[in-house]
Amino acid sequence: MKRILISIIVALIPFAPMFSTDKAPKDEKVKNVILIIGDGMGLGACSSWMIDQNYAPTCFDRAQFVGVSKTYSANNRVTDSAASGTAMATGHKTNNSMLGMLPDGSKPASIAELAKEKGLSTGIVVTSYVLDATPGAFFAHVKNRGDRKGIIEDLFKMRPDVLVGGGRKYFVEEKYVPENMIDKAVEAGFTYVSSPEEFYVTDKTPILGLFSDESYPMAIERDTDFLTDATLHTLDILGKNKKGFFAMIEGSHIDHAAHANNTEQLTWEMEEFDKMVNAAFDYADTHKGTLVVITADHETGGVTLLSGSKDFTKGESGIEVKYSTTGHSASPVPIFAYGASAWRFGQVMENTEIFARIKALLIDRK
Ligand SMILES: [Zn+2]
Repeated sequence: MKRILISIIVALIPFAPMFSTDKAPKDEKVKNVILIIGDGMGLGACSSWMIDQNYAPTCFDRAQFVGVSKTYSANNRVTDSAASGTAMATGHKTNNSMLGMLPDGSKPASIAELAKEKGLSTGIVVTSYVLDATPGAFFAHVKNRGDRKGIIEDLFKMRPDVLVGGGRKYFVEEKYVPENMIDKAVEAGFTYVSSPEEFYVTDKTPILGLFSDESYPMAIERDTDFLTDATLHTLDILGKNKKGFFAMIEGSHIDHAAHANNTEQLTWEMEEFDKMVNAAFDYADTHKGTLVVITADHETGGVTLLSGSKDFTKGESGIEVKYSTTGHSASPVPIFAYGASAWRFGQVMENTEIFARIKALLIDRK
């Protein structure tokens, strides 16, 4: 146990909170929050990308403050995306597979719902299907993450200004829903777009974009910067609201690549993620009062970076990316923050604190 703890601590040293003199903690009024979630993106996945880039600066190197999030759920030290999504979205730990609902059946409001109540715009962009656990945590309140019908009903109630990703089949196939829910969405006033190209020329909100039957294709399967382009168009739309906005952007396939223990897929996903994060940082540079927080809901794959040779006392003999599971692990995950009041995220914290700190800055501000 002691040895495990020591190795975790050593692994986290480069990510300790930075309070250097040239970037002293300073609160700045937060108008916009962009919460970026790399699903399943533990320190191993981040580090594998840094090594792949030969330690040239990545988006992670550009972060101003770095923290650590403790991801355990209410009933398991290894969380799933539903419980951890709920923790970050609502500030409450719940049981694995519960989404926006607590074990006692209560339904705490999500940060996106609170933002909407306050008159801010809200947007969600994912590469998974839009009813999946991470996006769903920000608008749905159901006992089981597989309750597609219940999640769609909550989506119609919440009406985020932008919700785009994959998952068309869950809105139209009889085995999931009794009637065509895309038609229902249009009747309810949503602008429906069926391709990224259609989305990029649309700004009439609320927008529901379903670009594939299941998840949107992985980065390795396409030659577009979908995640960056969809994020930038979403920020354009949300940024028109003078009161500000809350956006949640998810690099969903990092989790899927790590579940598959597929390093080639993982690298492609990290490359796409890096590009999108840099674009969000650039947005914060040019839009005063924008806070960008990047984290993960949990670690997937038990990713470790081993020396190619057992005798690492000699010169470099390559690094091997290894996995210890095809599931999730209990490892804490990094938090990277940039922009207005970013220093608030430079600590070790519960994943529920991500909600609490965003709420304090964006919702409870005067
Ligand atoms: Zn997963």
